[in-house]
Amino acid sequence: MKIRLKLTLLFTALFAALLLVFCLVIYFSNARDREDQYFKRLRQQAITKTNLLLGAKVQPTVLQLIYKNSLNSLPQEEVAVYDTAFHLLYHDAVYIDRVKETRGMIDTIVRQHEIHFYVQDLQAIGFLYPYNSKDYVVTAAAKDIDGLAKLHDLRIALLIGFIVAILLTFLAGYLFSRQALQPVSQMVDKVEEITASHLDLRISEGRGKDEIAELAITFNRMLDRLENSFEAQRQFVSNISHELRTPLATIIGELEIAAKKGRTPAEYEELTRLILQDAHRLVKLSNGLLDLAKASYDKAEIAFKEVRLDELLLDTRQAVLKSNPDYGVNIIFEREIEEDDFISVRGNEYLLKVAFTNLIDNGCKFSDDRESTVAISFHAKNVILRFSDTGIGISPEDIASIFTPFYRGANKKYAEGHGIGLSLTDKIIHLHQGSLSVASRVSEGTTFTVELPHL
Ligand code: ADP
Repeated sequence: MKIRLKLTLLFTALFAALLLVFCLVIYFSNARDREDQYFKRLRQQAITKTNLLLGAKVQPTVLQLIYKNSLNSLPQEEVAVYDTAFHLLYHDAVYIDRVKETRGMIDTIVRQHEIHFYVQDLQAIGFLYPYNSKDYVVTAAAKDIDGLAKLHDLRIALLIGFIVAILLTFLAGYLFSRQALQPVSQMVDKVEEITASHLDLRISEGRGKDEIAELAITFNRMLDRLENSFEAQRQFVSNISHELRTPLATIIGELEIAAKKGRTPAEYEELTRLILQDAHRLVKLSNGLLDLAKASYDKAEIAFKEVRLDELLLDTRQAVLKSNPDYGVNIIFEREIEEDDFISVRGNEYLLKVAFTNLIDNGCKFSDDRESTVAISFHAKNVILRFSDTGIGISPEDIASIFTPFYRGANKKYAEGHGIGLSLTDKIIHLHQGSLSVASRVSEGTTFTVELPHL
């Protein structure tokens, strides 16, 4: 069931229950009033007759005649006067007796002084009436035709009013909830249009500050994030294919030249060397991409253990120097290490080594002297590693973008690369709850500062 119908039905049911209680109270209080009033009237009529009978000594037959022709008589009025010994002194109707007083009834009236009861549709009263120090029992019955008719009219009016009010409430509730939920329907229509290829569409946030507007704003924010990550993915894939295409195209070109005509062994040797160089570049690129994928994993899937950073840096230096014998890497301890914990972190050795390799490698390759220095220090919470060089530096315009995947600065012609290293390093450091910052001056040098929480 739609929420609109549900709300309307709930609202209508609530209103119906309240209205029903209200109608019942009105009806029953009216019915009670009418009954009380009529008992009073019956009593009054009966007393008047008894007074005429006992006080004015009017003959019963005359009394019967007077009342038969009186306009003031009640419909089907039947008054009877008894003494307490159940002797009938007077009875209105000569032939019909609907109340049918009994000894028991007379005794009850004597005991209770007044009783009210019904004889089929007749309303009846019986009461003890003292006259001249003697008690008489008077009964009176009549039908309240007017009162009952009015009550009947009231019942019909309330019933019609109730039905009309409920119908109107349902209609108004339905229209109102439709209007109130219209933004949701519009949202649903709009959301239907949003697909992966139309992620730029947004739902209307309206002008209000209600829950629906809040929902729309939150939904739009989620779409912003989705669109950004879709765009980043798309960009990433196109960058990867571009980076892969270049060395592959070079290899193909070189092989095509070799295939055209016979070559001297020296030429073949040179070609093989070039192709090997391109193949190495491809391997480096695919390794970098693999590492990037690893660093993007869920943290829970990466194995963390205690790692001593000074030892890891010495390892890294060795590995960098092995593949680049012309590089120089200095490692400086700025403070004396009193405890192992000050220099140890919980981390993934492989990933941290990848990050440090990138920073050392960049320092060397972007410097004329091919040298990079790593200064190790620590304070109360963090280990601080400063990777500096006195190389060509990074222009202020590039600084903001160098951590973006595949971004290469204006100085890229100076050294080979794919623009993956720094984004990968940044990811790895953040994965370890650390921070990475950079300070650089063109032609003076660059310092990357890594801070990692120690044990
Ligand atoms: P790559 O080194 O493959 O170009 P990185 O992601 O490692 O990619 O670096 C991105 C860019 O940042 C580089 O292209 C370069 O412009 C700049 N950069 C990084 N490290 C240095 C450095 N030590 N000195 C000068 N520029 C640097």
